[in-house]
Amino acid sequence: MGKCKNHPQVESVYHCSKHQHYLCTECLKCSDPEIYCKFRSSCVINFLEKEEKIKVKV
Ligand SMILES: [Zn+2]
Repeated sequence: MGKCKNHPQVESVYHCSKHQHYLCTECLKCSDPEIYCKFRSSCVINFLEKEEKIKVKV
């Protein structure tokens, strides 16, 4: 657990391994999706972001 990088008062479990910061559910988005990230395949932030897109599409 850690504090969201945009919301220092919000605790989050979503950790970006590349940037070493946490993102709350409100900020749950990859900071640089265009750039290669070796952590992406196992990144929960990227995974949930994709899930969200699928939901929106349907
Ligand atoms: Zn936040």
